[in-house]
Amino acid sequence: MTDYRRLRVALLGAGAVGSQVAALLRQHSAELADRAGAVLELVGIAVRDLDAPRETDLPRELFTTDAETLIVGSDIVIELMGGIEPARSYLLQAINSGADVVTANKALLATHGPEIFDAADQVGAEVYYEAAAAGAIPIIRPLRDSLAGDRVQRIMGIVNGTTNYILDRMDKEGAEFADVLADAQALGYAEADPTADVEGYDAAQKAAILASLAFHTAVPLDAVHREGITGIDKGMMDAARKAGYVIKLLAVCERLTGEAEASASGEAISVRVYPALVSREHPLASVHGANNAVFVQAEAAGNLMFYGAGAGGVQTASAVLGDVVSAARRHIAGGVGVGESTLANLPVVPIGRVTTSYQITLEVDDQPGVLATVAGILSEGRVSIATLEQTVIDDPAPGAADGGAARLVIGTHKAREQDLSDTVDRLAASGVVERVVSVLRVEGD
Ligand code: NAP
Repeated sequence: MTDYRRLRVALLGAGAVGSQVAALLRQHSAELADRAGAVLELVGIAVRDLDAPRETDLPRELFTTDAETLIVGSDIVIELMGGIEPARSYLLQAINSGADVVTANKALLATHGPEIFDAADQVGAEVYYEAAAAGAIPIIRPLRDSLAGDRVQRIMGIVNGTTNYILDRMDKEGAEFADVLADAQALGYAEADPTADVEGYDAAQKAAILASLAFHTAVPLDAVHREGITGIDKGMMDAARKAGYVIKLLAVCERLTGEAEASASGEAISVRVYPALVSREHPLASVHGANNAVFVQAEAAGNLMFYGAGAGGVQTASAVLGDVVSAARRHIAGGVGVGESTLANLPVVPIGRVTTSYQITLEVDDQPGVLATVAGILSEGRVSIATLEQTVIDDPAPGAADGGAARLVIGTHKAREQDLSDTVDRLAASGVVERVVSVLRVEGD
């Protein structure tokens, strides 16, 4: 047997992901040693409760509640506790004591990424975080390494499995949001408190991480525009289906060019999370259930799609172990970390300056001249109509004009978000519009 050097590996956390990482490190130790060129010796696992049941069979003597002591002298520290503190302090301690670190902690990286990366740069350590965005799907390394010689123009990601599961079932079964959410909670796809998923916070953290890498810019979480899926109802789903679309919660990270963009390079970026209409022909429309996918458009490479399990203990453990092998290889080779030398630091524009197409659904009075009024307001607001479909409503809402009511579904050409929202306000106040049923962006067209 090859006489490998031993590397001390400390694991912080033994929950859904950590317990699987520990088990795989032990089960596949010989093979991992051959891949890494070093024996990866799991020297301890820090947890809160020594007596808590674990999902995998692990020797009790590995467990400790003293993370700080465990970190001392470790070559690689894997942080799988989640949350901001004490995860942040432990990672900084590990970096400053000479370890390379692996983490899956999107919440921490989206809020304190620059601090952690700077600390690593100072001492020549490396931070690996493949599992922090889209779970098992390799997307961090492709963005950081494989596409480093290309220019990413746009990323559209389905990066939250819970919301994709809910929207997919609403689409397939014609079900209401609240019913599918309750089911998802009973099946364990959604948390008892689903806010982080359904309000788009989890997707926004991943969007910040992906955009930071893709555009070589530290994107703060509060620069990410975020909307969740709680406003999506069966009517919107049905209308989307009829029009050849499906509604997906998307994380969109986009490079903007043009004279309106204020940076010295004439470029800026937009990072946003919202439910959007996606053509049923688009590859993202075929992402079903709790799966994730990241669709990347790069200048030279063209369109690439990365697809698979965005969560799950053992699936996520695969990404973590890949990082551990990389960390071990680098630790043996020595030298400084492979971070970027200079960031582009492109400005992140507010949502009002973003340009997309929209689908606006209105209930209007079914009277002569109404269409002309609506078209006039749109044109004054610099929103140009691409498609328009009118249907008579059989049971109009109370208060509709005597002539009855009609539903207008207006597809627009690309328009500025601020222009569009001002125009929708004017339509709502115009006297001919009974109700703005929905306004949805169209992405990927
Ligand atoms: P989890 O099941 O809640 O497990 C957390 C573990 O950390 C537990 O073992 C817990 O100890 C330990 N821990 C928490 N606070 C601690 C503290 N102060 N001191 C010592 N130990 C502490 O979490 P998870 O689902 O495995 O997620 C871990 C990380 O992976 C998170 O950052 C998460 O966002 C990320 N991630 C998870 C998934 C997934 O599918 N679950 C996917 C992608 C990324 P006790 O067991 O003793 O309470």
